Amino acid sequence: MEVIEMLHMNGGIGDTSYANNSLLQQKVISMTKPIREQAITDLYCSSLPKKICIADLGCSSGPNTLFVVSELINSVSTICKKLGHDQSPEFQVYLNDLPGNDFNTIFRSLPRFHANLRNEMGSALSPCFFTGTPGSFYDRLFATESLHFVHSSYSLHFLSKVPDGIESNKRNIYMASTSPPSVVKAYYDQFQTDFSMFLKCRSEELVTGGRMVLTLLGRRSDDPTSKEGCYIWELLATALSDIVSEGLIEEDKLNSFNIPKYTPCPAEVKTEVQKEGSFAIDRLEVSEVNWNAYDDQVYPSDEFKDGGYNVAKCMRAVAEPILVSHFGKTIIDEVFRRYREIIADRMSKERTEFINVTVSMTRKG
Ligand code: SAH
Repeated sequence: MEVIEMLHMNGGIGDTSYANNSLLQQKVISMTKPIREQAITDLYCSSLPKKICIADLGCSSGPNTLFVVSELINSVSTICKKLGHDQSPEFQVYLNDLPGNDFNTIFRSLPRFHANLRNEMGSALSPCFFTGTPGSFYDRLFATESLHFVHSSYSLHFLSKVPDGIESNKRNIYMASTSPPSVVKAYYDQFQTDFSMFLKCRSEELVTGGRMVLTLLGRRSDDPTSKEGCYIWELLATALSDIVSEGLIEEDKLNSFNIPKYTPCPAEVKTEVQKEGSFAIDRLEVSEVNWNAYDDQVYPSDEFKDGGYNVAKCMRAVAEPILVSHFGKTIIDEVFRRYREIIADRMSKERTEFINVTVSMTRKG
């Protein structure tokens, strides 16, 4: 099955949903706020537009979906006030994700979102229009020069497909220190193809002077198989291998499973942007976040004291649909029970962090 047909986060609002297990991604959105704030402020001040068309790509479904949008609207309204403008510009917001995303849950939350915005901003708020845009961001999604601001957080590390020619990546499910060099090259080639296609599509859709802020899961190291980007998946491969050893899944089934993602370092992002040529890089920054999103939070309940529990739940909300499409439903609870134990053990012995690469760009004229 194509990635576009099977990839989506766990929908709805249940215990294993992305909506209930995306605190980590929300922390990353908060951490990168100053970068977006600067970009949207510069955009507004440079052209004082009457309307701002914003696209959030890979918006998923849950509290994070409208978090960025409300923050951007607030940032613009703060500048408007400072500049003595009574009225904020109109906003046209496009929420994009793959067709399997739970758009219905987002749409149902819009009346409350509008009501909150009106409460916060009163009569200074101009109309905000929301549109769902199902489709892959590796294709054109919007009309020529119809966008002013593009945002994407924690989505672009997903590739358009599992790279071709990686049959030799046995027992691994992503690049790992034991992956043959041809596998590592195939992953990098796919990243280059996909990311340059993404940039080309967005360059056609953004107006000259339009901004784009992207945050990807990545790595600091030049080594693509460094633990920073790969370890979390190596541990999932260990959980799956245990299940193979017990005969619950066939070895061939595991050998033929690979995750369609790539965790780039800043230099790899920069190279693609420069090669494509339509964007000037304003900022390129790296940050990190603990695997355990609750490391510095009040625990909602005792279960959350176990970092393994938190991280395994976060990963399940992201990876379950893709695992189910390959292995079926029956092994899922068992995979994540083991994964939780393995993660808890690693976290007790070493520092475990995700690395985020954020790039802020302007569409050149
Ligand atoms: N931005 C949200 C969601 C991140 S989860 C947040 O920060 O919490 C990643 C999302 O990217 C998923 O919903 C997934 O379906 C989406 N995604 C992955 N590949 C995509 C593609 N090619 N086109 C559009 N969306 C994609």
